[in-house]
Amino acid sequence: MENNFDINNLVRENVKQLKPYSSARDEFEGFDTADMIFLDANENPFENGVNRYPDPQQMSVKAILAKQRNVKPNQILLGNGSDEVLDLLFRAFCEPKTDNVITLPPTYGMYGVLANINAVENKEVLLSEDFQPQIEKIMEAVDSTTKIIFLCSPNNPTGNSFSDESVAYLLQNFKGLVVIDEAYIDFSKKESWINELDEYPNLVITQTLSKAYGLAGIRLGICYASAEVISVLNKIKPPYNVNELTQQRAIVRFNDSDKIKTEIVSIIEQRDKLLKVLLDINFVKKIYPTEANFILVKVDDANKRYDELIAKGIVIRNRTTQPLCENCLRLTVGTELENKKLIAALQSLNA
Ligand SMILES: *Cc1c(COP(=O)(O)O)cnc(C)c1O
Repeated sequence: MENNFDINNLVRENVKQLKPYSSARDEFEGFDTADMIFLDANENPFENGVNRYPDPQQMSVKAILAKQRNVKPNQILLGNGSDEVLDLLFRAFCEPKTDNVITLPPTYGMYGVLANINAVENKEVLLSEDFQPQIEKIMEAVDSTTKIIFLCSPNNPTGNSFSDESVAYLLQNFKGLVVIDEAYIDFSKKESWINELDEYPNLVITQTLSKAYGLAGIRLGICYASAEVISVLNKIKPPYNVNELTQQRAIVRFNDSDKIKTEIVSIIEQRDKLLKVLLDINFVKKIYPTEANFILVKVDDANKRYDELIAKGIVIRNRTTQPLCENCLRLTVGTELENKKLIAALQSLNA
């Protein structure tokens, strides 16, 4: 199953040559040593809880994740949201104006935006009508400068997961990195691809605390990959990219795993209730299967229905301009009360 993967063929030349910035806290690694006097980083010495720089390697957070996910801490990189993690992948592996990546619309908009920011060509290969990757077309689009294929599974905005066969085929046959964005994996019946990390050296998984974990405000994104890939990302990441408050708040939340589970179960229950009720809204033309905390629906006139809901104080996402999503709206699952109000509002609109 090996596909002659060699990370040295992927890393940008300047990144290979780069000597990373070495912060005070990098040079003294015994960061947790309680009775040391720290006069190395020009901090204000008066304690207020956050007067010290944060741990640049976020070892306390990584220790919890490593145990939870059964990986080693050196297979984890944390970022200021998964958006930073995705940006680091571009900057480490894609030579501006030379390399390209492949994305599969309709999908998360940030891959294309980050490609643009980094002056990297974004080759778009549409999903099929049932929102699955078109493997032959993807492999036709691959050339010698294709560095990354982005797979979002469950996919935003369509809600479905990609078939295991398609994902495995790309992992086995594409010699660049296959990034699987699992922002919504906790709402899915499917297992994370994390379990396959040892099998595929080109597998990169991103996750986030912004959705199921209920911490969009703290900005914490996670990348799981081989130790080799992670060490390249570590070379270029800003030294203190995850702040102290974020690290503390994430740990507090991890210690409340029962609450997280209860919330996820409730969101899934609410989602499945919404799916049933939406069937009876007469201007809803199609409800797409979902394994995420949102539902994509096709309606008679997306722009009109969007405006009508705004007028009733409910904000949803209009996806009508996305390929394959004509007249589609994306509804995030809210609390039971919010969903009731959504349904009442939809029922009150004229056919
Ligand atoms: C919401 C979302 C993210 C989360 O990004 P953060 O920067 O971690 O908040 C990542 N990928 C997809 C597909 C998303 O929908």
